[in-house]
Amino acid sequence: MDFSDEPVDIEFRTALRGWLSRVVPTMGSEPESLEERLPRWRRWQQQLHAAGYAGLSWPSEYGGRGAGVLQQAIFAEECDQAGAPERLNILGEGLVGPTLIDFGTDAQKSRCLGPILTGESVWCQLFSEPNAGSDLAALQTRAQRDGKGWRINGQKVWSSRAQIADWGILLARTGEPGSKHRGITYFLLDMRQEGVRVMPLRPMVGSAEFNEVFLDNVWIGDDCVVGKIDDGWRIAMATLSYERVALATGRVNTQQVITDLIARVRVSRDATGRPLGEDPAVRQKMADLYLRTTLQRLTGKRILSGMASGASPGPAVSTAKLFSTALVEEMADFALASFGLEGQEDPDAARANSRWLRLAYQARGTSIAGGSTFIQRNIVAERVLGLPKA
Ligand SMILES: Cc1cc2nc3c(=O)[nH]c(=O)nc-3n(C[C@H](O)[C@H](O)[C@H](O)COP(=O)(O)OP(=O)(O)OC[C@H]3O[C@@H](n4cnc5c(N)ncnc54)[C@H](O)[C@@H]3O)c2cc1C
Repeated sequence: MDFSDEPVDIEFRTALRGWLSRVVPTMGSEPESLEERLPRWRRWQQQLHAAGYAGLSWPSEYGGRGAGVLQQAIFAEECDQAGAPERLNILGEGLVGPTLIDFGTDAQKSRCLGPILTGESVWCQLFSEPNAGSDLAALQTRAQRDGKGWRINGQKVWSSRAQIADWGILLARTGEPGSKHRGITYFLLDMRQEGVRVMPLRPMVGSAEFNEVFLDNVWIGDDCVVGKIDDGWRIAMATLSYERVALATGRVNTQQVITDLIARVRVSRDATGRPLGEDPAVRQKMADLYLRTTLQRLTGKRILSGMASGASPGPAVSTAKLFSTALVEEMADFALASFGLEGQEDPDAARANSRWLRLAYQARGTSIAGGSTFIQRNIVAERVLGLPKA
C-alpha cells in the first residue's frame, strides 16, 4: 500500500508544522506537578482552539474541524515531533465530546461541548472500580432514584486527572445488583459538589496522575443522564471505542524514544570505559528496536488507512497494541539497564535520567490502559485464531 500523505493531508501537515514551529517554543518547559502544569496546559488548549486545532475529530457544527482518522494521526505525530505540551482535556476532547455528540441531549451538548474545546472545563472518566476493571460490568457504584434525580454511592479508582477535573463521566448501577451489563446508567457528574472526595494516588515516579474517587450520597439531576436509564453499557462501549486511533498508533512516541536512545548510546560508555556503541549486543538491540519502531508506525498507518476508507479495525487494534506495548517495555528495560544507575551523584545527569524512569513507568501503564495485555491476547486468541472462549 501507499503510505504517503494525500495532497489534502500534505497541506494539513505543512500548515500544522509551520504553526507548531512558531507556537511551541513560546510555551516554556513542563513543570513537575500536575497542578503546576495546569495553567500551561490551559494556555495551550486556548492556543489550539484559537488556531482551529481543538476538537479535531468533532463535526464543525459543534466547533470541531471534522478531521478524519488520518489527519488525527498526523496531528499526534506532528505534535510529538514538535515537543508540544500534553493535552489538558485528553478525556474531554477524545472521549466525552464524541460521546455527547452521538448520545447527548441538545441541552447537554450546548452546556458541555464549548467549555471542553476552550479548556474551561476539564473532564475525567469514572468507570473503573476496585473490583471492576477488565470486567467493567461488575461495577457496584449505586444510583438510587431521589426526586428528579439520583443519589450516588460508591468508589471509583485509577481516575486519571480527577484531582483537576470539573466534570466526570460516571457509570453507576441502576438495575438489580446482579443485572451486569443491563442495569448500568451513564451520568455526567459535577466533580466540585459536596460528597465527591478525590484522593490522589502517588506513584513511584513523578507526580500523582491517578486518583481514588469516593462518592458519598452525591446527587445528580435527570438532566445529567446520558441516554436512557439502564442503557449505559452501550454508550460506555461507544466511549471506549473512540480510543481506537490512539490504540492503533500507540500511546508513546516511540520514534522520539528510539532517536533519543540512539543519541544517548552514541555518547555513553560501559563500566570498562568502552563506548557503548561498540558493544555488538547493544548494536543489535538498537537495530532491533529501530526496525520494530518502523514496523509499528507502518502497521498503525495501515490500520488507520483502512479505518479512513470505512473498514472496522477489528482485532488489528489488539495486535497493534500488543506490539507497541512490548516495544515500549523493551525500550524502557534497555534504557534502565544501560543508563539507570548513571547520575546518582550528579543532579543534572539524574534529571536527564529521570526520563527513562518515566518511560518505564509509562510502559507499565501502557500495558494496562485501554485493555490489558492479557485481555488483548484473549481477543486475538478468540477472534483471530478462533480458539474457544476461556
Ligand atoms: C495509565 C492508566 C490510566 C487509566 N485511566 C483510567 C481512567 O481515567 N478512568 C478509569 O475509569 N479507569 C482508568 N484506568 C483503569 C483501567 O481501565 C484498568 O486498570 C483496566 O481496565 C484493568 O483493570 P484492573 O486494573 O482492575 O485490573 P484487573 O482487571 O483486575 O486485571 C488484573 C490482571 O488480570 C488480568 N485479567 C483480567 N481479566 C482477565 C481475563 N478475562 N483473562 C486473562 N487475564 C485477565 C489482567 O490482564 C491483569 O493482568 C487507567 C489505567 C491505566 C493503567
